[in-house]
Amino acid sequence: MLVVMRQDATPEQIRGVAEAVEARGFKAHPIPGAQRTAIGITGNKGALDAPIFESLPGVLEVIPVSHAYKLVSREVKPENSIVRIGGVPIGGQDLVVVGGPCAVETHEQTLIVARALKAAGAHLLRGGAFKPRTSPYSFQGLGEEGLKILADARAETGLPVVTEAVDIEGLELVEHYADAIQIGARNMQNFSLLKRAGRAKKPVLLKRGMSATLEEFLMSAEYILAEGNYDVVLCERGVRTFSDFSRNTLDLAVVPAVKSLSHLPIMVDPSHGTGRRDKVAPLSRAAIAVGADGLLIEVHHDPNRALSDGPQSITPDMFAELMQDLRQIAPVIGRRL
Ligand code: PEP
Ligand code: MN
Repeated sequence: MLVVMRQDATPEQIRGVAEAVEARGFKAHPIPGAQRTAIGITGNKGALDAPIFESLPGVLEVIPVSHAYKLVSREVKPENSIVRIGGVPIGGQDLVVVGGPCAVETHEQTLIVARALKAAGAHLLRGGAFKPRTSPYSFQGLGEEGLKILADARAETGLPVVTEAVDIEGLELVEHYADAIQIGARNMQNFSLLKRAGRAKKPVLLKRGMSATLEEFLMSAEYILAEGNYDVVLCERGVRTFSDFSRNTLDLAVVPAVKSLSHLPIMVDPSHGTGRRDKVAPLSRAAIAVGADGLLIEVHHDPNRALSDGPQSITPDMFAELMQDLRQIAPVIGRRL
């Protein structure tokens, strides 16, 4: 349910409605808008409670929200949300390009890639310190040492850092060192991790599960917002299909679908979405054209020797060339880069 406040509602009236919501054991989520404030209500059983709130001072109307997800829905917040990661806005006119190695391997490797990304115009650095690997024998990441390396790379290049947390313990470390917390495809429905991310003080980059429907994807984001963290960026990274010529099938059609249903920004990861270095640039161009707010791209200075995801990692030179292409496409679709 959504309580829409009058345009001239005072801060006291807004607080009064929030208190009335909480007094009934529900949760109030004030959502300031360009014109007026709305207050999302979660935890209630249906529209039966509407009359209680309709009569409160400053209330314009109480409307039911038809989707199962509430706080992520455009019904609740019509304007696009802009999520800032280390000061970089995502979801506005500016396109945001996140680059970095799949895994932080060494200090030297991370710094070489970070410097090249910075020189090419990337906005954020991403690298995994905790890696969710299919095989327990594969490189699992450097853990806290990897987070310290990322912090060093940020100190030198100024690029804010995004990195994955695979469990609650790791999330606390990631929250401490990084500028945003990535929740990976395999954890998209790890509900206790989502709830903890919802209580974090840092933005969350939520990747789509490899078999998640659009509704499941948005419901997972809802878990995070419902706990009070409204800074969520979605990321399409490909889903499993019968098609076997690429690692995953990059579902670019989900971008406009998310845009129509939700106010949250959505990025695209063509690296995991294709699994092949030569397909990263064409799918990046397509993702931007279809309306993505940014890209997540795996870059390695020596991809054939990468400890994780080498076949889909592009080189710094390929990354720089792709940035040039994106700079030409951006103005055509009304974006900036
Ligand atoms: C990654 O970002 O390196 C990763 C493991 O991605 P995903 O969760 O999308 O598979
Ligand atoms: Mn990877």
